[in-house]
Amino acid sequence: AVEIRGVHKLYGSLHVLHEVDLVVAPGEVVCLIGPSGSGKSTLLRCINNLEKVQAGIIQVHGALIGYKRVGDDLVETTPRQTAKARQHIGMVFQQFNLFGHLTVLQNLIEAPIRVQGTPSAEAVERAKALLDRVGLADKHADYPAQLSGGQQQRVAIARALCTRPKVMLFDEPTSALDPELVGEVLDVMRDLAKNEMTMLVVTHEMGFARQVADTVVFMDQGRIVEHGPAAQVLDTPQHERTKRFLDRVS
Ligand code: ATP
Ligand code: MG
Repeated sequence: AVEIRGVHKLYGSLHVLHEVDLVVAPGEVVCLIGPSGSGKSTLLRCINNLEKVQAGIIQVHGALIGYKRVGDDLVETTPRQTAKARQHIGMVFQQFNLFGHLTVLQNLIEAPIRVQGTPSAEAVERAKALLDRVGLADKHADYPAQLSGGQQQRVAIARALCTRPKVMLFDEPTSALDPELVGEVLDVMRDLAKNEMTMLVVTHEMGFARQVADTVVFMDQGRIVEHGPAAQVLDTPQHERTKRFLDRVS
């Protein structure tokens, strides 16, 4: 579902991603771990075309992100084409990024109606089913400020799902939450994983990675250092840098 080949990302002269290769199969859950500044968020942002890559290709559900092929060349896509390729991607950030002036329900139906042209009755029906799924059916008329952090993050997940993405990207979705609210968000993510959603999750929750991830990827200094089955990478890391990182965080 996601294919990343030879990706390089630079901010000016700062080389943030080096030759990154990663394939995520449909239904696979990949947890991305690594020290601060190792490029985890940048990689997710490149997948979602919030950043342009300087080399390499990213494909999501068969669609090239940011570029299209013209003969043998890759040409940057127009904003309209980019929006189309991104339709298959849902993203959830550390800060929930809900629209504060819209109700919960309005937050959910905005993109389906405005970007995808979904009839509003259908969008509302889908939104209500998703709110039910994340345990917030009774909150549809509330504004984000009336909700707890955990509730807001569950709304953000439901909102991302409302466009029916094929892939969900999570960037430290529980890092901004009070500890007692982390579990309810991880439960929603666990439920998604169980239902075969393809997921790329940047997280410091090693327990979640161990339980839910099929694959763990350890990044350091813009490179994928280690990549393998979750239990293998977490319990018997092959690289010294992975070992040192895991000793520090667990
Ligand atoms: P953290 O765990 O702290 O979130 P990360 O692994 O997500 O770290 P990134 O945010 O991807 O790391 O950052 C990778 C590198 O890119 C860092 O050196 C960072 O300073 C740099 N960087 C990120 N965004 C920008 C930007 N917009 N402009 C310039 N440099 C940036
Ligand atoms: Mg980050």
